[in-house]
Amino acid sequence: MRYAETGFNLEIDLSRGNIEKIETDPKLTELHLGGLGTNAKILWDRVPPEFEPFSPDNLLIFCTGLLCGTPAIGCNRTIVSTISPQTQLMAYSMMGGFFAPELKYAGYDKVIFRGKSPNLVYLWINNEKVEIRDASHLRGKGAVETQELIRQELKEPKAHVAAIGPAGENRVFFASIEQGRSSASRQGIGAVMGDKGLKAIAVRGTKDINIARPAEFIGLCNDVLKYIQWRNENPIKNVEPIFAGLGSPQEMAIHDEKWHTTGFMWGNARTRRKDFWTKEVEKKWRETQESSRTRLISCYNCPMKCGALISVPGISRYMMKCYSKLTYTMAAFSDLDFGFKIAQRATEYGVDGFSCPQVMAFALELYEAGILTDQDMPGMPSDTEGRFYWLLDRIVRREGIGDVLANGTHWAAQQIGKGAEAYAHNNIKKHEQLPLKLGMLNPIYFLMYSTGEKINITQIEGQFPQEPLATREQREEFVKDWIQVPDEKFKQYFLDWDPRGEHSNPYYPTVEATCEIVDWMERMHYIDDALGVCAGLSSFPLKPPYHIHNYPAFISSGAGIDMDEAGLTQVARRNRTLVRAVNIRRGMRRADEKPPEDHWKKRFPELEEKLLDEYYKFKGWDNHGIPTKESLRELDLAYVAEDFEKRGIIRNEQS
Ligand code: SF4
Repeated sequence: MRYAETGFNLEIDLSRGNIEKIETDPKLTELHLGGLGTNAKILWDRVPPEFEPFSPDNLLIFCTGLLCGTPAIGCNRTIVSTISPQTQLMAYSMMGGFFAPELKYAGYDKVIFRGKSPNLVYLWINNEKVEIRDASHLRGKGAVETQELIRQELKEPKAHVAAIGPAGENRVFFASIEQGRSSASRQGIGAVMGDKGLKAIAVRGTKDINIARPAEFIGLCNDVLKYIQWRNENPIKNVEPIFAGLGSPQEMAIHDEKWHTTGFMWGNARTRRKDFWTKEVEKKWRETQESSRTRLISCYNCPMKCGALISVPGISRYMMKCYSKLTYTMAAFSDLDFGFKIAQRATEYGVDGFSCPQVMAFALELYEAGILTDQDMPGMPSDTEGRFYWLLDRIVRREGIGDVLANGTHWAAQQIGKGAEAYAHNNIKKHEQLPLKLGMLNPIYFLMYSTGEKINITQIEGQFPQEPLATREQREEFVKDWIQVPDEKFKQYFLDWDPRGEHSNPYYPTVEATCEIVDWMERMHYIDDALGVCAGLSSFPLKPPYHIHNYPAFISSGAGIDMDEAGLTQVARRNRTLVRAVNIRRGMRRADEKPPEDHWKKRFPELEEKLLDEYYKFKGWDNHGIPTKESLRELDLAYVAEDFEKRGIIRNEQS
C-alpha cells in the first residue's frame, strides 16, 4: 500500500490528445519524497538542455507535495515546474489554496504535460474520468473569470481550477497561473502553459489518502495546531511585528505600512521615501483597506488567513495576499486605492505581482531618460496611473512596446539597447526581485541571493533572524525557547552577532558560520517544497511549528518511510543538488551567482568571493559551482556525474 501519496501520475500529451495514468516508482519517493524533488528528477531525465522553454518537449508539471491531502496543517502546496522562459533555468513556482489536496483526492500525485495542443483546451479531472476539453470559447478570458466559467460549464461548483489569463496565452514571460486563493507566479510558468495551448486544469476528487500510522500522525498534527495557537497569542518579542508571528506576511490584516513604504524602494526599485508614512496617509490607507477587504481567507487546512478577498466598487472581486498589496502602488508612486484597483486587472490578466509593476516602472524610467520616446509610446496618457494601465494592457496583449516589455526587464533591456541595460538593475539570474536597497552587506543574504535557485529571496530566507537584536539581553531572551535550531551552535552565532562593532556585518557571522546558516535555511525550504508544506509555517518565519526535529516523525508516520534528521537532511541535499544539476547542465555558472547589483551600498568584493568559495566547498561543489563527482555519488546521483562527464562539464571545468 502507498501512504500519503497516491502512487499515480497523469501523463498528458497535448499534441496527440493522449491521456495515461502511470504508476510511479516508490523508490523515487524514498529518494526525493515528492514535490520539488521528484519534479527535478523528471526534468533531469526528460528535458535535456537542448530543449527550449517553448519547445513542445519541455514539460509542465503540476505536483502535489508528499504530505498534501493528509491532515498535516498548512500542507497544501502545488509545485509547478518547467523550464522558465525568463531565466532559461528550472522554474519551480508554488501555489497554496486547495488544488494539491483536491488532486490527491482525485487519485493523482502529479499531472505532467508535454507537447502542444493545436487548439486552446482545458483538462478536466473528475476522479477516474479525465478528459481534454475545448477551451476556444475561453480565449482572452481573465484567469479568475475562467475558473468560474469552467465550474459553471462542468456544473461542478466544488471543482478547483488553475487557469491562465491573456498574459499566459500571449506567452508574457512573467505570466502567472491563478487558482482560487493562490497563484503560481514566478518565472513565467503561465507562459509555458499558454504555449502548450492549455487554458486551465479543473479537478474534483473524492477519494481517501492512506496514512501509515494514523493515531501518531494526528497527534503530531494536533501539536502543530496547538503551537500555532500559542504563537498567535504570544508573538515573538523585540522584533518588528511582521516577524513576530507565523504565516506569510499578514499584509491583509495589518494597516501600519511604515516599514515597507519607508524602507523599500519606489518606482523602478530606486527611490526611498523616508518621510512618506504620515498620520494622514495611515488614516487614508486604513480606510481604503477596511472598505476594500471583504474577508480574510486561508488556504486548505490552515488557520492563518494570510489572504483577503478584495472588492472595489465597479470591478469584480479577487484574492490578494502578501506584499503584492504594495507592489503596484509603490512602483507607480501612487496610493493604496490605485494598487487595489490595478491589481484586480492584473490578476485577471494573470501576471506576477512582483515582476509586472517593476517592468512598468522600468519602462517609465526609460521614457524619462529619453531611451524610450513618444514614438515607442504612442497615445500614452500623461498621468502615472493612466500610464500604468496603458502599459499593462499593451504588455499583456504584446502590442507595440508591450511586446518587448513582456519579456521582462533583462531581455527587454537587451532588445531596446541604448544603455537600457543599466536600468534593469534589480535582477537575480535575469529575474526581477523585491525592491530592497540596504547599506551594509549582509553575508547571509549575499549567499542566499547569489546561490538560491528559487531565484526569489522571499522563498529562500527564513528561520535565522535577518538582523541582530539590539542588546545581548534581548538575544538571550530570543534563544531561550529556540527549539527549531538544528544544532545549539546556531544559538551562539546569534548571541554573538552585534548590530555594531567587531561582531557585526559584513565580517560577522564569520564565513564558516554564514555557510552553515544559509545551508540550514535552504535545507528547510527544500524539505517544505518536497512535502508541500507552506513556507509560512516552516522555512519562512522565525520559530515556526514545523522544523527539522519534528519533520521526520511526520514523514515516518504519514508516509511510512523510516526517516530521521540525518536521512531527511540527505534527501534535502539530494533534491537541492539535483535542481542545481539541471541548471548547471543548462549553462548556469559562478558568474551568474550575484545579488541585484545595487542591493547594498557597501560591497566587499574580496569577502564576497571568499563567501562563494567557502559555500561551494561546504555544499560539495567545485569552484565554478558545479557539484563534484564525489558529492554526486554520495547523494545517489552518479547518473548526473556520468552525464556531466559525457558533456565535458566535469572534465573541462572540474580541476
Ligand atoms: S500560512 Fe497562510 S499562505 Fe500558508 S497555508 Fe496558511 S493561509 Fe495559506
